Amino acid sequence: MLKAQETLLEIDLKALEHNVTYLKSIIDSSTKFMAVVKSYAYGNDAVEIAKHLETLDVDYFAVAYTYEGEQLRTGGITKPILVLHAQSVYFNTLIENCLEPNLYSFKVLKEFITTAEGLNQKQYPIHLKFNTGLNRLGFLESDIPEIITILKNTDAIKVTSLFSHLGASEDLNENEFTLSQINTFKSISETFLEKLSYKPLLHICNTSGIINYPEAHFNMVRSGIGMYGFGNSEEENTHFKPITTLKTVISQINHIPKGQSVGYNRGYICDAPLVTATLPLGHADGIGREYGNGKGFVAINEQKAPIVGNTCMDMIMVDITNIDCQEGDEVIVFGDYPTAEEFAATANTISYELLTGLSQRIKRIILR
Ligand SMILES: *Cc1c(COP(=O)(O)O)cnc(C)c1O
Repeated sequence: MLKAQETLLEIDLKALEHNVTYLKSIIDSSTKFMAVVKSYAYGNDAVEIAKHLETLDVDYFAVAYTYEGEQLRTGGITKPILVLHAQSVYFNTLIENCLEPNLYSFKVLKEFITTAEGLNQKQYPIHLKFNTGLNRLGFLESDIPEIITILKNTDAIKVTSLFSHLGASEDLNENEFTLSQINTFKSISETFLEKLSYKPLLHICNTSGIINYPEAHFNMVRSGIGMYGFGNSEEENTHFKPITTLKTVISQINHIPKGQSVGYNRGYICDAPLVTATLPLGHADGIGREYGNGKGFVAINEQKAPIVGNTCMDMIMVDITNIDCQEGDEVIVFGDYPTAEEFAATANTISYELLTGLSQRIKRIILR
């Protein structure tokens, strides 16, 4: 481990490997594994992560947008890539990069067929998404007859998979809702398979689905957050190792007398003498104002140092009155302690938002 002299996001590929191995151990060996690497692999580094995942024999990648898939291709990734939120303006780029679109509405389905036919494509792999209750993207079960008619009229595309997405797979209080989503998906798949001469892959589970609904793994599962080290309960987290540590360094220590204030808008008034450390990261790095004023805390020598006053754009100040430390010392924003989940919770958010919100200006360091 290297000692930080600036703000660094360390990405531990060994931990990634551990998490993927665990996830693969709880699915059937015939079930395919789709690695979700959208949004810079949840704020990490999509190309580096995907390259390593290729060596771990994942079957598929998923990104949100065409541009993200293009970056993976430029980085040398050769496995199939599903674009979860394909948009018609990029269909040419998508085909040029051999990316596979999720087609979720009649509009995008028809537009994609027009593009694919225009480029003389035959049996171009596409994925159809069904809305089973999340009410975000997807066809409805009642759309199937019309979809089949459209498919019978073209040989430009071929349905590689049918899929859906769970809305509350992490919440066992919503068990009934999730089971109804799974049942609707089963019924959609059955109707569809009767009408096609070939068998598309079926998939519905994200990380929490993989863990909580083993009966719904179908032919493939899609994991994001689990690969990066988080399950959906304390118990589950014991199986995962967070792959990222956000480190920084103490730029300056200030001894502030009673009565003075700290930071913009005089966010903190010292009612006693205070010692603060100023750190080189702020809301421009993804540590938003909601972490300020005593909510968020970092660890210095494994001791808790709460954020004092408002978060600035490029800096935060933390309370080190009772911590023995010096300028230049390393600071852990999140990692083993606090974990990204604990840190996120201080601002009422979740690890997904914290991780994907980390600015690209933070240097990424890959530990192999
Ligand atoms: C982001 C996403 C996933 C990954 O979800 P995790 O909870 O991170 O495992 C899976 N499927 C779809 C459709 C997604 O958008």
